[in-house]
Amino acid sequence: MMRPLEIIGSAARDLARAYGFVQPLLSVLREPTEPGHNAATTSTPGWPRSAPSIRIEGLTFGYEPGRPVIRELDLEIPAGSTTAIVGPSGSGKSSLIRLMLRLYAPQSGRILLDGCPIESLGVAHLRSRIALVPQDTTLLHASIATNIALGRQDTGHADIARAATDAQLDQLVESLPSRYETVVGERGLKLSGGERQRLAIARALLRQSAIFLLDEPTSMLDSKTESAVLQAIRKIAANSTTLIVAHRLSTVMDADEIIVLDQGRIHERGTHADLLATGGLYSQLWRRQAEGNEASRDQ
Ligand code: ADP
Ligand code: MG
Repeated sequence: MMRPLEIIGSAARDLARAYGFVQPLLSVLREPTEPGHNAATTSTPGWPRSAPSIRIEGLTFGYEPGRPVIRELDLEIPAGSTTAIVGPSGSGKSSLIRLMLRLYAPQSGRILLDGCPIESLGVAHLRSRIALVPQDTTLLHASIATNIALGRQDTGHADIARAATDAQLDQLVESLPSRYETVVGERGLKLSGGERQRLAIARALLRQSAIFLLDEPTSMLDSKTESAVLQAIRKIAANSTTLIVAHRLSTVMDADEIIVLDQGRIHERGTHADLLATGGLYSQLWRRQAEGNEASRDQ
């Protein structure tokens, strides 16, 4: 059980690092020469305005030639809806998120926002419309306030504190002598995985982006903290188009649609009730997790 989790953790760390630190470089390099850039619509600063539809057409992607991890994927995510992606470890969930962020380019197929292919948006522009909660977050060596406000340095203290409260981070912060000015990250205060996860959620809450991508955002939280954090997540999800990857199925049972990925393909899809009624992979996973909860209560 440990090894797959470690692998996912380190992939997510790479993603966070790439997203946080390579992004400005990439946008400088790519922005002016973006091919197929349609200045009339896609360079408008506010575009897409809010909660665009996401359409995935025939998407195929692999890290190595001949080894696709996403295979001919077609998916329509209606504007403003919440779609959950679940499935076994290695089924391609995080890869799909990386493609949405243009951390990689697909071998074939495309992703469109409100009908506009994401390659025709500048990378920096695309990412400015996305709030990402990666599975594991690398912190800057800076204060908690700076880490929460990341990329929005004009944010006032009240907004930062509200986001921290909604993300269930306020008790921790209040217990520290320097509170929001406490320096974290390497050589600073070490935060646990669950604390970093809540910080990433506070960061995303503050951004109020058109698109909200969450990759196992509550995997390190206990179930009581998780349900409080999920309430905050639902609040922003209501104003965004949301894609949430989750291992714990209780996290996603109220999504508008649940997609079960297996080996880069859609294995089944539907609402929680639909999928339980079908009696397929989802209902097996659900039963196994319910039994797991029973077992941990008995200990
Ligand atoms: P999931 O998030 O569903 O667990 P991923 O999208 O992370 O799955 O991975 C899908 C497949 O791609 C796995 O077989 C994984 O080993 C492989 N993979 C993930 N990241 C990389 C990478 N950077 N280089 C090569 N293979 C990778
Ligand atoms: Mg993953």
